[in-house]
Amino acid sequence: MANRVAVVTGSNKGIGLAIVRALCQQFPGDVYVTARDVGRGQEAVASLVSEGLKPKFHQLDINDLNSITTAADYFKEKYGGVDVLVNNAGIAFKVADTTPFAVQAEVTLKTNFFATRDMLTHFLPIIKAGGRVVNVSSFVGSRTLNQCSLALQQRFRSEDITEDELVGLMQQFVDETKKEQHKQGGWPETAYGVSKMGLTTLSMILARRLSKERPNDGILLNACCPGWVRTDMAGPKAPKSPDEGAVTPAYLALMPPGATEPHGKFVSEKEVQSW
Ligand code: NDP
Repeated sequence: MANRVAVVTGSNKGIGLAIVRALCQQFPGDVYVTARDVGRGQEAVASLVSEGLKPKFHQLDINDLNSITTAADYFKEKYGGVDVLVNNAGIAFKVADTTPFAVQAEVTLKTNFFATRDMLTHFLPIIKAGGRVVNVSSFVGSRTLNQCSLALQQRFRSEDITEDELVGLMQQFVDETKKEQHKQGGWPETAYGVSKMGLTTLSMILARRLSKERPNDGILLNACCPGWVRTDMAGPKAPKSPDEGAVTPAYLALMPPGATEPHGKFVSEKEVQSW
């Protein structure tokens, strides 16, 4: 049987690096640091090796479709697929950033929603039976849901929303910011929040699809919040260390064989949250 393998996106620093550290310590198989920049990725590998761990490395820029398919082909070829996928890569503009909101919306949704969706499109077919998929979303996505118009809230919470409808809604938000019509459209003023609300909703849609299309494969797919974590994204005042932020993502990645839940949920502090 092929070796087991775990893959973490955006793991050259921050929470992703800490997730790789936790998986190196607890996952029975190969664990991959992936990064868009090979130099930064290899530095991260070296830092974990100096701690006595043995991660591997593969280049992966989630904004580059060619990079995604090259990586997916590599894992399919070398391991027969992927056992654990953690979609951690993400971006956020700083609060003080003066980039026009429409640009922030387009750029933020491109990575956090559309590129993460591309990852899922190309990696879900190669997730092995018993696999675990963890999408690192945010409590900000839940807060954003509650700030949307009731009509939008109803769609994001509905059990019958399709991936196409969700993609259309995310694109609609980006388009309306360009016309400064997003407020009338029912959206709050947060590109990051909308991107993570979309990612959590996508996780629920894809989990339902997995249950329907691969009912006997026992794959668990969830979204989670790592908490507020001291990283380049969140700054030095956040209460959690990166290792503490990795606890819930690693918990979901390491759900024991045969576990049937959580699946299709938003999880924070190892607890399923209401949506
Ligand atoms: P960091 O900014 O420290 O790290 C983000 C990582 O994502 C970096 O490795 C970055 O690579 C990578 N990345 C960004 N774009 C891409 C891309 N196109 N392809 C591949 N990798 C990419 O952030 P955090 O560690 O804080 O955040 C990790 C995740 O946790 C994010 O999804 C974030 O939204 C989420 N989160 C964080 C919270 C916090 O308090 N920190 C709270 C809630 C959620 P590079 O070094 O090349 O830029």
